Amino acid sequence: MKNFVTVRNLVKHYGDVCAVDTLSFTVMEGEIFGLIGPNGAGKSTTINILSTLDAYTSGSVEIAGMNIESHAREVKAILGIVPQEIAVYPHLSALENVKFFASLYGLKGAALRKAAEEALAFVGLSEKAKMKPKQMSGGMKRRLNIACGIAHNPKLIIMDEPTVGVDAQSRDHILHSIQVLRERGATVIYTSHYMNEVEQICDRIAIIDHGQLVAEGTCEELVAMITDFNTFTMKTRFPADFDKDAFMKEVSAFPSVHSVSVQEDCVKIETSITCADFSDILDKLRKFHLPVISVVSEIPNLDSVFLTLTGHEIQ
Ligand code: ADP
Ligand code: MG
Repeated sequence: MKNFVTVRNLVKHYGDVCAVDTLSFTVMEGEIFGLIGPNGAGKSTTINILSTLDAYTSGSVEIAGMNIESHAREVKAILGIVPQEIAVYPHLSALENVKFFASLYGLKGAALRKAAEEALAFVGLSEKAKMKPKQMSGGMKRRLNIACGIAHNPKLIIMDEPTVGVDAQSRDHILHSIQVLRERGATVIYTSHYMNEVEQICDRIAIIDHGQLVAEGTCEELVAMITDFNTFTMKTRFPADFDKDAFMKEVSAFPSVHSVSVQEDCVKIETSITCADFSDILDKLRKFHLPVISVVSEIPNLDSVFLTLTGHEIQ
């Protein structure tokens, strides 16, 4: 995969406030990239700079091989922006809103109408094409905001907290549509302070705090930064002739197994975080006639990664 967005030593001061502090990260072509951090971390400032909406103090940003300052016009042409604050015209209908935003990218006539109708269908608002934003629920307005940002079929879609204040159904719809946009070939940068959403849809993630990069990688890579082990607890029933010593010996022989313990109604196995032979471990349970009634994995989530790396909770 090749780099699509390269941010190098980006700095943004607002007077005395350093909103973005020597931030560097890379987004690969065709991925969903999550930019996560608590309120005030500098996500929107970073996104606004990438979107060419905001100036920066120093550093550089390249999008599709183009410097965003020297090639601002070409960069803008391939961007789709979904801002954190809903930016639609209250007195225009949903369809008119989408047409207006898509027209800014040069679409006209029948092509414009088709693109706008497709974008509305994409966010599930075809039936509401004539409705005005002031009559819409928060979730519907968020979906319209997305349609306005994607109708011109941008190569890079930048979404700033698109699920804040939406109902569960709109939220699921939005998360699903982001994945569809990626499948259609777009690269997506997605900011959020909801870790579970980011775990669900992002290929790679940058954690930022106080304008600085805390860590960057896949969810698994970030988890591996704070722990070496994954604990699996498998509930089972031990047969009368269970040979505990032989079982422990065979399971311990796997290179990725760190420890095994047999308890009253369960087997607890600690493996390396990168364990790739879990199914072989399960085969051993089968061999010793241990039914697997349930498996609980205590792999840490992004919330614990954030807490461990920054020393505070995300929200
Ligand atoms: P996030 O999107 O992660 O919540 P922001 O990028 O909005 O964070 O804000 C980062 C920091 O920059 C905060 O301390 C915020 O108060 C400050 N900030 C953002 N926009 C402005 C502005 N226009 N003027 C002054 N300070 C700002
Ligand atoms: Mg923000």
